[in-house]
Amino acid sequence: MLKNEKAVVVFSGGQDSTTCLFWALRQFKEVETVTFDYGQRHRLEIECAQSIAAELGVKNTVLDMSLLNQLAPNALTRSDIEITQEEGELPSTFVDGRNHLFLSFAAVLGKQSGARHLVTGVCETDFSGYPDCRDAFVKSLNVTLNLAMDYDFVIHTPLMWLDKAETWKLADDLGAFPFVRERTLTCYNGIIGDGCGECPACRLRKAGLDKYLQSKAEALQP
Ligand SMILES: [Zn+2]
Repeated sequence: MLKNEKAVVVFSGGQDSTTCLFWALRQFKEVETVTFDYGQRHRLEIECAQSIAAELGVKNTVLDMSLLNQLAPNALTRSDIEITQEEGELPSTFVDGRNHLFLSFAAVLGKQSGARHLVTGVCETDFSGYPDCRDAFVKSLNVTLNLAMDYDFVIHTPLMWLDKAETWKLADDLGAFPFVRERTLTCYNGIIGDGCGECPACRLRKAGLDKYLQSKAEALQP
């Protein structure tokens, strides 16, 4: 049924959203991507998203969200703020309402291009603690967007209940494991693929990858 429909993927060029893009390409007849430019530390993140979209033959729209930095100076956009996370607190990469705003802008873009499906790689199980990445919020926003625009959006969150190892498995199941591993950017230091190995994003990514590869190796043992 969904095969006749169009989707917009919120796309950063990272592991999660690239996996979501491969997922969407399986589900929908037509897929496009939207990338948000909010003054990321690395312009490379935008370029990475653009080049992946081009390679996979999907349209990519970059929206200027530099106002986010004006609203909430934070470690992702300000090189003078160190990336830290205290036990039990939100990491310093947090921007209040960021995902809320991204999804809302994606919806406006989606309606204009005749897409009613929105796909986002948010995840409740990665313990980052962003309230606007939780399932209850996404469901609530879905209702709000439908009322706001009198339109039947469906927000899809294929990663919502997956841990990082399971997200690698999903990429593998979609035939996209090498692509996601080699071409996506997760690293806060702007190194594509396996990254610097030192920053919190790299450590999280590597832990999930190691766990997935180990479980795959165990499954292959006689
Ligand atoms: Zn790194």
